[in-house]
Amino acid sequence: MARTLVTGGAGFVGSHLCDRLLAEGHEVICLDNLLTGTLDNIEHLFGHERFRFARHDVTNYIWVPGPLDYVVHLASPASPRDYLEHPIHTLKVGALGTHNALGLAKAKGAVFLLASTSEVYGDPQIHPQPESYCGNVDPIGLRGVYDEAKRFAEAMTMAYHRSHGVRTRIARIFNTYGPRMRLEDGRALPQFFVQALRGEPVTVYGDGSQTRSFTYVDDLIEGLWRLLHAEYAEPVNLGNPEEVSILQLAREIIALCGSRSEITFAPLPAGDPKVRRPEIARAERLLGWRPQVARRQGLERTLPYFRSRLARQAAGSARPAQRGVRAAEDGAR
Ligand code: NAD
Ligand code: UDP
Repeated sequence: MARTLVTGGAGFVGSHLCDRLLAEGHEVICLDNLLTGTLDNIEHLFGHERFRFARHDVTNYIWVPGPLDYVVHLASPASPRDYLEHPIHTLKVGALGTHNALGLAKAKGAVFLLASTSEVYGDPQIHPQPESYCGNVDPIGLRGVYDEAKRFAEAMTMAYHRSHGVRTRIARIFNTYGPRMRLEDGRALPQFFVQALRGEPVTVYGDGSQTRSFTYVDDLIEGLWRLLHAEYAEPVNLGNPEEVSILQLAREIIALCGSRSEITFAPLPAGDPKVRRPEIARAERLLGWRPQVARRQGLERTLPYFRSRLARQAAGSARPAQRGVRAAEDGAR
């Protein structure tokens, strides 16, 4: 039975990955300091005989007793609102956290997978973005804390591969969405759903002509699973090439929700990339992977989640899943 550590496993992507690994028969150890993640995302796994949770900040030394086959390193704030609120922590988790996670993978002889990001391309001057593009990042811009942290993390990962022979993978993840995104995480998609469902104005930044390419979470998890098993150390883009303007996305979500919300325009945040779309030939060739869920379908699958979360919130029943955590942490020892 494979034994896998997932850092950031209580987050949006991490919790879906824990589900998948367990379904594949892995024993899963989820490490998270709950900075931007929540126990609600993994509450359903408490009590699972092959699942352990430990609250830990990966910028500190990580030790896990026993063997490990895989270390999947997802820990990091990911939404612009989150990383702008925690700029130094974001730099530390990309640098110190990645170093610690790599050190652990080396000590255990485990395969290491880094969750990198399309943000390494910054505000791209090449469109769509292939993995060979080195990017256009302002190191001292507001987004630099996240972009440079991930660029450093990639450099550190390649150094461990080249110098220590660690079997590493780098996933450059493009905007991903689906159930378990935090209502208030500030990313366009949760923001638009929440505003539309509440009948509040939907806030489009700038004139909304900037584009993104949104991947449904199930497609991303499939890509991560396949990449984990590919003997390939160079970065691989994982994203849906279906590109959309942010204004169009806002309109689609309003229509899907059957909402009467109006669109209001607010200033574009500094450094906001104007375009983003992955070139995925590498993922297609290496992994036989391409997204299967069209945006319309993915948004339809996501809507019930936001509806039920908002209903729970309105009923005052939103509460952290604290009950099971002591048992889960005890189980981790
Ligand atoms: P998220 O905020 O939901 O999850 C991140 C998790 O990391 C949270 O549970 C958080 O508590 C945890 N964490 C943060 N700092 C930590 C620390 N020091 N020690 C332990 N845990 C810590 O975000 P997400 O969308 O699930 O993103 C997961 C990963 O994927 C991130 O590395 C992110 O950069 C990357 N990524 C995500 C997207 C996307 O669209 N979701 C796009 C590109 C890259
Ligand atoms: N955005 C927006 N309104 C919001 C939140 C985001 O118009 O309420 C825009 C944001 O400026 C960016 C795009 O939507 O151009 C995607 O933003 P998100 O934070 O989801 O991800 P990222 O900018 O990291 O791709």
